[in-house]
Amino acid sequence: MIQHELAHKKYFDLVERSYQANKSRYDSIEDTKNTLDSNLEKYVSQQISLDRSYLVENVSIYAEKSYEYAKTVLKKNIMNEIIAETIARKGSSDVQLNKLIRKELNYGRYDANGYSSSSD
Ligand SMILES: [Zn+2]
Repeated sequence: MIQHELAHKKYFDLVERSYQANKSRYDSIEDTKNTLDSNLEKYVSQQISLDRSYLVENVSIYAEKSYEYAKTVLKKNIMNEIIAETIARKGSSDVQLNKLIRKELNYGRYDANGYSSSSD
């Protein structure tokens, strides 16, 4: 599962970079992550309310189990595994989810370096 671990690192680097570039806007790394994840989290929870098996069908069983666990037990890092799984698989079967994750990953580049990567 090395791709999965690399995906976590890529995401963590993004959060860290965004935090460093916007310290006046964010209280902490955790706050940065929550802010960056908020649209994505809203979208995923909407999809699940429409279709209970949304994550299993579009991302993976692991993503679904991790999401439920994070939401009900950990009550934080809710998007972590969904993001890592989607990146590691080079996209889920939901185009809109892929778009939101790509947008989130590009966000840090705008903030840290002042340029946008070409969207593919
Ligand atoms: Zn993971």
